[in-house]
Amino acid sequence: MDKKEFKFLREKMVSAHLVSRGIRYPKVLNAFKTVPRELFVPDNLKEYAYQDRPLSIGSGQTISQPYIVALMTELLDVEIEDKILEVGTGSGYQAAILLSIGAKVYGVEKHSNLAQKAEEKIKALRYAIKIKIGDGTLGWDRFAPYDKIIVTAAAPKLPKSLLEQLNVGGKLVIPVGSRFSQELIKVEKRKKDEFSSKAVCGCVFVPLIGEEGWDESL
Ligand code: SAM
Repeated sequence: MDKKEFKFLREKMVSAHLVSRGIRYPKVLNAFKTVPRELFVPDNLKEYAYQDRPLSIGSGQTISQPYIVALMTELLDVEIEDKILEVGTGSGYQAAILLSIGAKVYGVEKHSNLAQKAEEKIKALRYAIKIKIGDGTLGWDRFAPYDKIIVTAAAPKLPKSLLEQLNVGGKLVIPVGSRFSQELIKVEKRKKDEFSSKAVCGCVFVPLIGEEGWDESL
């Protein structure tokens, strides 16, 4: 497939899978029309890049389905220049969507091979990102506080470090539940140590493994 064919499929995906399911913020829809998802999937899966489903990216991990990436992006209410921490950078696609809206992104990824590939791909699109290899359940204290935090792996509970590293007025979007099914939760930090949260919908993510997440050995 060439660039023109991918562009056609990309636009079709936006109307068939995002607009039709209620994604409506123009800046989110524009980001999905702009960022080439095929760049973030392995060569042998590129033909499926615009289907609305997660795909394997190696190391037992996945690039999330486009609809859930769009929903989480919309829930974050991303503003230009927002400082966003993404826990679970994986392929780099979600980060590229946030960057294309104009946010500054700090990514934490557990797998070094994924982090390295994600960084290369994001740089190829001429965006700047800082990625740390490590346990994102502890956030990234060095650059805190963040206006927004997005966690793209399933947590057993809200990680305390992430709540602490969120700015007052900031938003956290995170799947919370069992290792096999979760609720997507949107948390808002009203004041220091005062939060409101609401469950948005059911979802299924790979587990968030770390000190404030799941135990690797389980
Ligand atoms: N946002 C990614 C994308 O756009 O491709 C999808 C991420 S995938 C569903 C979840 C990612 O979380 C995996 O790459 C996994 O290695 C990572 N992960 C799991 N536990 C982690 C942790 N404690 N810290 C950082 N990354 C973690």
